[in-house]
Amino acid sequence: MQRVLLTPGPVELPDPVRLAGGNPMISHREPAFSVLYRELLEKLARLFETSDPVLPVPGSGTGGLDALCQNLLEPGDEVLSVSCGAFGDRFREIAARRGVDLHVLDVPWGEAVDPASVREALMARPGTKALLLTHNETSTGVVNPVEAILAALPEPRPLVLLDGVSSVGAMSCLPQAWGVDGLATSSQKGLMSPPGLSFLWLSSRGWEAARSHRCPTYSLDLVLYRKDLEKNSQTPYTPPLSLYAAVSAGLDGILREGAPVWFAARRRFARALASGLEGLGLPLLVTREEHRSPGVTALYFESPGVADSLRESLRSMGVEVAGGQGPLKGHLVRVAHYVDLGWPQLSLILGSFWAACRAQGKLPSPKEALERAYETWKEETPCGRSW
Ligand code: PLP
Repeated sequence: MQRVLLTPGPVELPDPVRLAGGNPMISHREPAFSVLYRELLEKLARLFETSDPVLPVPGSGTGGLDALCQNLLEPGDEVLSVSCGAFGDRFREIAARRGVDLHVLDVPWGEAVDPASVREALMARPGTKALLLTHNETSTGVVNPVEAILAALPEPRPLVLLDGVSSVGAMSCLPQAWGVDGLATSSQKGLMSPPGLSFLWLSSRGWEAARSHRCPTYSLDLVLYRKDLEKNSQTPYTPPLSLYAAVSAGLDGILREGAPVWFAARRRFARALASGLEGLGLPLLVTREEHRSPGVTALYFESPGVADSLRESLRSMGVEVAGGQGPLKGHLVRVAHYVDLGWPQLSLILGSFWAACRAQGKLPSPKEALERAYETWKEETPCGRSW
């Protein structure tokens, strides 16, 4: 039976990505590697609209967040961590292990961070060195209004460290334009590639902080990465070459179409999916539409056991989706839509949910689901395909 992978990373790989990942090996000390590296950096810079390099570093998203904290935070630094879910909490924990003086702002799971509350918390602590934020909270399917949060920051501005692990590639993420100082993301979600590579970007202020920092790590020292890039377009250690080629192919898919068009297509799919799921009578976790993620949609079930039975039914039909985390464990079904999905996949997903509901003894109307999904689908501008 064919399987459909709809988890928020790893994702189903587009063919060009899968094929590029199988390219023959080259030596990372030969000129061909420098060409591959430079091309990848140039595509990443276009996606982020940045002039400073976006550095690929081996590791998962967590490794990228760890690299940010290790390069920019010192024991005793005052840090404000804002969290609205499991990954905001993880970022906080990573910073805590650096021995920082941690202050927290917690937002109920399923809601987005309010710019005014961050401003207020920082005004109460003008000595704050760094602010930790999550762009897309994957555990709930919430997008935080990062641009608005940063526009409202009081002076003196802290260093802003942003988790872009599940936002980059699925929505606009412009660290330089928005005033971010350190961004981490990874290969296996919006960049549609296998897991194993994280990407780090620092602002000029971020690089200043990293250069004056006694970095406790050797393998994640970003200053060493930048030095080797500038010296001979190489990396300090053996890079995961296959992943460089895969991500480069994934970026081609996004950039050929144009990032804004690509992001609009992800948003269109997410909106139509939400309408269709509501048409089946399934409850969305995120009630405010403007806070819903274009990359992942979460359904919330109060009664324990319902979410897991639905997931089990879907799995038996070959559809793999994710569950909840932390306090929402056992209460969520999360469907990811990072790759280039269209109407055929949308109707497949809604049909599978309908059948899974039937298997649970519910009798939702497939007609209503498809009609509601289609009404939303056709409201949005149609987008072309890049592959
Ligand atoms: N941050 C966010 C927002 C995530 O969604 C994830 C993974 O889902 C992570 C961090 C951790 O990434 P990884 O599992 O690649 O270490």
